[in-house]
This record gives sequence, structure tokens and C-alpha cells, in this order.
Amino acid sequence: MGSLSKQEQVECREKAEYANVNWDELGFALTKTDYMYVMNFTEEEQKFFNGTLTRFGNIEMCPSSGILNYGQGLFEGLKAYRKEDEGILLFRPQENALRMKIGADRMCMPSPTVDQFIDAVKKTVLANKRWVPPYGRGSLYVRPLLMGTGRNLGVKPSSDYTFLVYASPVGNYHKGDLNLMVEDNVRRAIPGGTGGIKAVTNYSPVYKPLTEAKAKGFSDLLFLDASTGSNIEEGSACNIFILKGNVISTPTTHGTILPGITRKSIMEIASDFGYQVEERAIPIKEVFDAEEIFCTGTAMVVKSVASITYQGKRIEYKLGVETLAQKLHATLTGIQTGLIEDKLGWTMLID
Ligand SMILES: *Cc1c(COP(=O)(O)O)cnc(C)c1O
Repeated sequence: MGSLSKQEQVECREKAEYANVNWDELGFALTKTDYMYVMNFTEEEQKFFNGTLTRFGNIEMCPSSGILNYGQGLFEGLKAYRKEDEGILLFRPQENALRMKIGADRMCMPSPTVDQFIDAVKKTVLANKRWVPPYGRGSLYVRPLLMGTGRNLGVKPSSDYTFLVYASPVGNYHKGDLNLMVEDNVRRAIPGGTGGIKAVTNYSPVYKPLTEAKAKGFSDLLFLDASTGSNIEEGSACNIFILKGNVISTPTTHGTILPGITRKSIMEIASDFGYQVEERAIPIKEVFDAEEIFCTGTAMVVKSVASITYQGKRIEYKLGVETLAQKLHATLTGIQTGLIEDKLGWTMLID
């Protein structure tokens, strides 16, 4: 390509059907893609307008921005999957758009409309189409952000906002077994707080106990409720289910637990399988005689919990092809990739 200009070389590469990625090596890490989508809300306009695709890259903002100073921000996460016939499917994007609206309201932020949100996600995925992994070898993780970007100094809602969507191809979230440690000191969320929304401020406060648990060989923490310390809530970024007999239970989302879209979908699939699905308070002692435990989230989909350790006591659960978690995983990813008929209208073809 010696005779091509730099720009022509870039264009040439971008016409390729697939980016040059080792798809089988992908974990859950950032691989930079070509484009991102940016849309602003200004104090003058009082609405989100003029959204555009731009080159993926660093962004500029005023040092006094609300997101940098006071954490006025939210994120979302959803995946685009390639079908066997190369078509591209989004999974329940309107649910993410609605969840962002609810979170924005709690954080005193304006939010894009559901249509603006979905349009931005579609444009981001299609502009980065060559980064959507081949069928069965991963997915394109889409990360919408909503952040206060006005030039404010006082502790109050920002005057201006930025909605940004970027994407990265991903593979497995946790490569090994999922070994949870019950966190008995640090609480993730409090009643009346922001645990029920994807506020950016919910995540780094658990880095300390999470880092300590990882140093001891655990994969994630299992948090207890802040009021009594006796009921299980969720992981640092995933929901939890326990199986006993024909009953599948998951903690009720009363504001301290993130209402996962995977959680909601798994509840429907499990009840379709004939299980009795219950949302209720789950005392920590119930994990000791559960037959199976699994976690759900966009990143990991559905994953069996290999063990739970609480106050020095470790319980192990069955893993592998015989588990309900595997059956649920196969059904959900089957729907997400277009392999299984989508009777509920969960997927959106965007090709
Ligand atoms: C995002 C998230 C989940 C999972 O939600 P999904 O919509 O299934 O991806 C669960 N818990 C927390 C704390 C989260 O941030």
C-alpha cells in the first residue's frame, strides 16, 4: 500500500469486513474501535440535540465539570451479537434506555429520549460493524455514558450534559470459576441511596474490599443488605439467584439492588421452563443449602457460582453441563444470537 496516503490506508482498512482481532483471546477489556457517538444537552437549548459519530478518542471537558468533581454520571451496558447469517442483533435496548431515564431522574440529570438512546446505540454499532465478533466468538459491548459536563463549581446539578456511546468487542467476563466471598463489613448500597441505578459513584467505593478479596483468590464479592446485614443482595456488578427444588429465588430490587435486564430475562425464561420464580428477601443462611447458585449480568450473561465463603466457611456448588445455569445460558444466548426463535420480541435487528 506504499502509494496510498495515510487517510486512504485507514479507509481501506475500515472497508474490511472484520477488524484484525484475535477473537478467541478476547476477555472483558477495552479494544479501541473506530467511532463513538456524542450528543450534548446545553443550558440554552434545554434538550439533547445534534448527536454525531466522531472518531473514537479522548474527550475534553472543563475541569469543573459535574462528572469530575461530584460524580454526576451514569453508565449503561448492552451487547450487539452477530447472527449466523451475519445480521446484527441488539438485546432489549429500550430497557437500557428506560433504566438510564430512571437513573437520570435520581441524579438530577436530563436524559436522551428512548428513541435518541436507541438511535445512538444503533449508529455506534453499525459504524463499528467490523468490530462485532464473528458468530459465536464474542459480542460488541456497548457502553453509553451520561455525564454532567457544565462549567459549574458549586455543589448542584450541572448546567450542561454529554451523552456518549462507545463500544468494544468482548469475550468472557470471568474466565475461571466464580468464587464469591460474602462481604461482611462494607455495604454496597443503602436504602434511599443510588444502589438501584447505574450511578458511576456506586463502583469504585467497593474496589478496596474487592481488591482484597481478589488477592485472596476470590472472583467477586457478595454484598449483604445495609439495614440488617443478614440478607444477600448482589455482586459488585451482577445479580444473584439461588435454586432449591423447583424454586428459583432472587432478592427483591427495592432500591439497593440494580434491576438487571439479564435478571428480568432469566426470570421469564426460568418460569417458562416450569420453575417457580420468587423475588423475596433471601437470608444468607439459605445459600448454605441451595442446590445451585448463579449470577446474571450483561457482561457474564449467566454463570454458575462455584463457591461462596462466609465468615471462613466455604460451600461449593455443582458446575458444568448438568446445571440449570448452563441451560439458562444456552437459551438466553440462543435468543441473543438469533439461534433460538425470539417469541418475546427481545431482539432488534439493526443490519
Ligand atoms: C449492570 C449491573 C447488573 C446487571 O444488569 P444487566 O442489565 O443484567 O447487565 C447487576 N448489578 C449491578 C450492580 C450492575 O451495575
